[in-house]
Amino acid sequence: MGAEADMVHAPLVTYASMLSLLSLCPPFVILLWYTMVHADGSVLQTWDYLRQHGQQGLIDIWPKPTATAWKIIACYGAFEAALQLLLPGKRVEGPISPAGNRPVYKANGVLAYVVTLVTYLGLWWFGIFNPTIVYDHLGEIFSALIFGSFVFCIFLYIKVSVHGNMKRFNALSFFQGMELYPRIGENFDIKVFTNCRFGMMSWAVLAVTYCVKQYETYGKLSDSMLVNTILMLVYVTKFFWWEAGYWNTMDIAHDRAGFYICWGCLVWVPSIYTSPGMYLVNHPVNLGAQLAIFILVAGILCIYINYDCDRQRQEFRKTNGKALVWGKAPSKIVASYTTTTGQTKTSLLLTSGWWGLARHFHYVPEILGAFFWTVPALFDHFLPYFYVLFLTILLFDRAKRDDDRCKSKYGKYWKLYCDKVPSRIIPGIY
Ligand code: NDP
Repeated sequence: MGAEADMVHAPLVTYASMLSLLSLCPPFVILLWYTMVHADGSVLQTWDYLRQHGQQGLIDIWPKPTATAWKIIACYGAFEAALQLLLPGKRVEGPISPAGNRPVYKANGVLAYVVTLVTYLGLWWFGIFNPTIVYDHLGEIFSALIFGSFVFCIFLYIKVSVHGNMKRFNALSFFQGMELYPRIGENFDIKVFTNCRFGMMSWAVLAVTYCVKQYETYGKLSDSMLVNTILMLVYVTKFFWWEAGYWNTMDIAHDRAGFYICWGCLVWVPSIYTSPGMYLVNHPVNLGAQLAIFILVAGILCIYINYDCDRQRQEFRKTNGKALVWGKAPSKIVASYTTTTGQTKTSLLLTSGWWGLARHFHYVPEILGAFFWTVPALFDHFLPYFYVLFLTILLFDRAKRDDDRCKSKYGKYWKLYCDKVPSRIIPGIY
């Protein structure tokens, strides 16, 4: 099979995203951090600086990965890896891969999440480690992660070569990955580590870090920071609550462990996903109780709806279409498909509940949730909204990509589903 047959996008888009990820994203992460922390969150201020100082200006602000940064990353990574391996959890089976393998996981995400946050806050409370150190070395940490994640991906690449799959070695396979379920030994799942235990966990850890930093700098916490942190933590809590469900989604079940996924989770999530909180550290906006509560409730509602959409699909599949959906027996399509090994299998497509409103409707509350944890920053600067913009583009692209995949998997059954649920993402419009 040629490399291009493996692409999830058209060849031009794949190569363009590969080049931009490799060349533009690392400076973007550093410039975002610089703008948030040193340029008042103002893109114009950073732009002026770059215009005056050119390329040398970028080199000058690029933090060198220091020993402190490496130590923080190493301690955090080792702690999360140990929790992943050692904490108890229910045995959960993932979806069957196209080659017919079914991965087995240990569902200990909630426990790891609680232990991580309690340990982090405990270290601060008892004066053992101050989270402000993380904020004060944030640029160096991102710089180290940019470099470290690249080395990590080379390790993944070499790991596959040891197992002899040299046929598909090229820049594209490095970018898109070679293995769907890479492991170290029997039990240490690399994608669970990169995506969940390092990436998503860092989101919660950094949200708390930003809160502590603002509290220690100003002697109090602004209501905007409080709303932002609570919403981001509710979102990440929801994620870990539903982590076993995440193991059934595209990220895990379809996207292989390559530079695209690993870099995204090890660098992009800690830096870009947490950026609204990073902005608020030195912008302690005061919203007033009424507005703060309104934003908080709206945000929680969106996160709940997003969770309920995922839960509905999961329950529906788990009970083989028997679970009630919005109090009624679900309407569904029984779709058959052929695996790469030639076996014919059947699967169920839900056409009622949230999944009957539009295909991928759950992306709407996902985007709105992100909007609500950003809006406490108000509208002085655009940069805190970068994540919302990025997420919107990502999810619109993802919906199209997933539709294409389902179309080729289910053929006429997918067409039937599209006839029944005609809109994608936005009911009645798109
Ligand atoms: P989805 O939950 O959208 O799952 C897509 C898969 O569901 C399809 O590939 C298909 O898989 C199956 N499916 C499609 N239609 C139906 C149907 N009608 N009934 C039953 N099954 C169906 O996966 P995502 O990974 O996109 O999203 C999961 C969660 O992660 C969402 O909450 C999303 O908002 C969130 N997310 C967040 C991102 C972020 O960066 N913040 C990025 C991406 C997602 P099959 O082959 O099994 O039929």
